[in-house]
Order: sequence, then C-alpha cells, then structure tokens
Amino acid sequence: MSDLAARLSQLDSHLARYRPGGILNLIGGQDVAGSGGSFETRSPVDESLICAVSRSGAADVDAAAKAAKAAFPAWAAMEGAKRKAILHRIADLIEARAEEIALCECWDTGQAWRFMSKAALRGAENFRFFADQAPGARDGQTLRGPAQLNVTSRQPIGPVGVITPWNTPFMLSTWKIAPALAAGCTVVHKPAEFSPLTARILAEICREAGLPDGVLNLVNGFGEDAGKALTEHPDIKAIAFVGESKTGSMIMKQGADTLKRVHFELGGKNPVIVFEDADLDRALDAVIFMIYSLNGERCTSSSRLLVQESIAEDFHARLVERVNRIKVGHPLDPATEVGPLIHKVHFDKVLSYVGIGKAEGATCAAGGERVGDKGWFVRPTLFTGATPGMRIAQEEVFGPFLTSIPFKDEAEALAIANDVAYGLTGYLWTNDLTRALTFADRLEAGMIWVNSENVRHLPTPFGGVKASGIGRDGGDWSFDFYMETKNVAFALGAHKIQRLGA
Ligand code: NAD
Repeated sequence: MSDLAARLSQLDSHLARYRPGGILNLIGGQDVAGSGGSFETRSPVDESLICAVSRSGAADVDAAAKAAKAAFPAWAAMEGAKRKAILHRIADLIEARAEEIALCECWDTGQAWRFMSKAALRGAENFRFFADQAPGARDGQTLRGPAQLNVTSRQPIGPVGVITPWNTPFMLSTWKIAPALAAGCTVVHKPAEFSPLTARILAEICREAGLPDGVLNLVNGFGEDAGKALTEHPDIKAIAFVGESKTGSMIMKQGADTLKRVHFELGGKNPVIVFEDADLDRALDAVIFMIYSLNGERCTSSSRLLVQESIAEDFHARLVERVNRIKVGHPLDPATEVGPLIHKVHFDKVLSYVGIGKAEGATCAAGGERVGDKGWFVRPTLFTGATPGMRIAQEEVFGPFLTSIPFKDEAEALAIANDVAYGLTGYLWTNDLTRALTFADRLEAGMIWVNSENVRHLPTPFGGVKASGIGRDGGDWSFDFYMETKNVAFALGAHKIQRLGA
C-alpha cells in the first residue's frame, strides 16, 4: 500500500466514529447535540461529506457559559501545581494522538501533511509551556511607597470565550486555550464552522486527561449565531479571538454592552523586504516558504515581496522557476507542498484576485489558475510589477498568492511597507546591521524577523498593530490577558491621615 493509501485508510477509521452521530458539543462534561440541528463539514480535497456537526445558538452558548461559570471557582482555586499536572497530561495525550489529529486536520482543512504533523506536536508544546507557567501565574510584585508596602497579585478573570478560525485550527486553539486554563480560567470554545474536527478531538483529550467537567466547553456553530451569542453573554468576561479584521470589529461592537475584554489576532498583508546586500539564496528560500507553506492560509505569511530594483530581475527569474515547481496535490501525500484551499467560497475569493491583479496591470508571472476539476486546488501564484496602491498589494488574499513590488532605496521600501491597513509581521533581508536596526524600528508591525522566516519562540510576545490586532499573547503576555492584577497596600506605620471634621 502506498503512503497515501495507508493514510487514507487510517483516516477512515478515525472518522468512522463521527459518522453516526456527527460532531457533538461538549458542555459541562456531557456530549450534547446543538439546539439548531446540524450542518455538514466537507473535505476541500474532493468536496465529500465528512460528517454532520452540531449547529448551536444562543441557548447552547448559555448552557456552556453557565457550565463554565459553575466550574470556575474550583478550577481557579486549584493549586497551580495540580493544574500543571493536568495540562501536562493533556500534552501527553495530544502527542499520543498526534497522527490522528494531523490526518483529520489535513482532510478537514486541505493543509499538507508535511506541515500538519508538526502542528499537532506544536499543540502539545503549547500545553507544556503554559503548564510549566501555571504555578507562578499569580505571582506579582512588591512596590514599596513612602508609607505603604504595595503587593500585587494576579487572579484569573473568570469564564472566557475562545473563537478560532479555520487555518491551522488545532495549533491555534491550543495556543489560546492552554494559557487560559493555566491561568485558572474556564473556557467556552467556538471553533470555525469550516474546520470543526480537531477542536472536538482536543475537547475529548481534555476530558480524558482529567480536566474537571465544565472547565473546557465546546460549542459548534456559525459565527453569526453561536459566535455572536458568546461575545454577548454576560457571564463571559473576555473574548480571545483569531480571525478576520472585520469580524474583530463586529465582536467589539457585540461585546460593548457587557464590557468584554478582548484580545484580537487579525489579518495581515505582511512585507518581506529583500535588499541587494542580503544573502539572496536564503532570502529566496524564506520568501517562498513564507507565502506558499500552509497554502498561504497563514496570518503571518509574507504576501508582499518588496525587492530592490537592482536585483529584482534576477530574483524574479529564480522565484518563478521555483514557484512553478511547487508540488500541488493531495494533502495526505507526503510529497505535497500545497494542498487545496479550505472551501469553495475562499477558493473563489483567491482566484478573483487573479482577475483583479491582471486588470490592475500587474504581471501574472506564475500560476493564477485552478488545478484539476475537483477540490479547491489553486496553482501557486506570483504577480510581479505591482504598484503599492493596487488591491493585490493592499488586501489580504490569504492564499498561495504573492505580490511583488520593486523599490529603489530604503526610504521607498519603508514607505511602501507601511502603506497598508495592516501591521502584523515584517521580514527583513539585509546584512547591514544599522539598516536592520533603524528599519525595524520604523516598520509598523508587531513582530519582525531579520534574516529569518517566522520561527516562533513561545516566551516572546505575539500580536499585531493597526488592523492586525489588539493586545499581545505568548509567554507572560497571555496571563496579562486572562488575569486581573490586584494591588493591596499595607500601611507601614502610623502615617498622618488628614482629619476632616475633627
Ligand atoms: P473569520 O473572522 O471569518 O472567522 C473566525 C471565527 O470567528 C470563526 O469561528 C467564525 O465562526 C467566528 N465569527 C464570525 N463572525 C462572528 C461574529 N459576528 N461574532 C463572533 N464570532 C464570529 O476568519 P476566518 O476566515 O475563519 O480566518 C481567516 C482570518 O483569520 C484571516 O484574516 C487571517 O489573517 C486571520 N488570522 C489571524 C491570525 C493572527 O494571529 N493575527 C492567525 C490566524 C488567522
């Protein structure tokens, strides 16, 4: 049996258990169907039905929020070391089921096996990292004033809502849920409707690992009903959201009446800037990796290439040759580098930008078309000769679609790089240290890599500026979001108190 056939057969055995009853919600430790019936999830590989999924509304969200509220006092009061042990057990079980998670994620989202097998393990790492932080999460500072000794400590904010998108959904869910649990919060998770499979596996793993009932609740459904109800629920104290900028804006409005604390990780149109003095071989590898890996459905993808005019022609020639050789295929084939896009709606959106780019006068130097006639496969696409104001240089396409814009000098590169609504990441390729420092200082982005692709180090802050997000997570920044800081001031002696009415 080929690798692909073997993986398909394994996948089939994993999916078999969801076929009879569909994917259920998990509320207060119980498997329950959504009150709105169900909807279908289909594979982007061949449009075949995977299974039915619970469709939830306000009543289901209310039940989940109440379960999270009931579970909160005991979970928040649990000793950090005990929470740490449970989170490590979750990580152990993720590792044990990593292959199943990767298979389901590939089939549900179209992401290639070569990336998803690592993403499942990254999910376990997220749990281990925050498990280790749990015992110290409440620690604070001692700040001595002239008359009082101030002692700060942190306390979990309460039940929180986590709303995740369909791109690398397992890894992103663990990235949000693990710190919330480590902080002592309880969670209601609303995964994306296009990719519900692995959120269910995560909920099952948490239950099996001994996470008390109600600490993690799963509610499936659409954004406009289940998602909206979660953001409006008075018992939910904060919303951690990953998704599109315009959805973030809606969530802010929906959460206004209940004064929700929000953390937003939103869209991007991230520049990779290649100067003539860079190591061009490494820059080429990174440029290709950061837009075509994960099907380009990646918030941190470098979807704008800014290349110095003096090297542009040669760089483009090498780029076109490599892009044309990228292997598009079945996500479970180990040779595949780019799989199908998540859904027909998204496939249509990505291909519409090919027409837009051509109409705007840029050159389609590679790709720009569908591959095959089944599933949502798009050939890796490169547009050259774009100008900064074009829609293909301004709007997030979120697919294997790269727009290249030439620049003359540093000042022009900076002006182009900053001339977009977004500001998530930036990638600089130069061997000039002074230029790297000054450019990075003025580049409007929350995260910048110099002479590197995106390599995540878990203790570092993650987040964007402008339309790319609000707030930071990662490391201790996650606890700042999921916890409240309290200050207690102790008088150091009998200081003078003003005596009114004496
Ligand atoms: P989306 O905004 O359409 O949906 C994300 C989630 O929000 C889904 O679960 C959806 O059901 C829910 N939702 C939709 N409307 C809602 C509403 N009114 N109230 C509450 N919830 C609602 O995003 P998507 O298409 O699933 O994901 C792709 C987007 O996510 C891209 O823009 C990408 O850049 C962004 N993203 C950002 C980061 C980051 O770290 N900055 C990471 C991954 C993805």
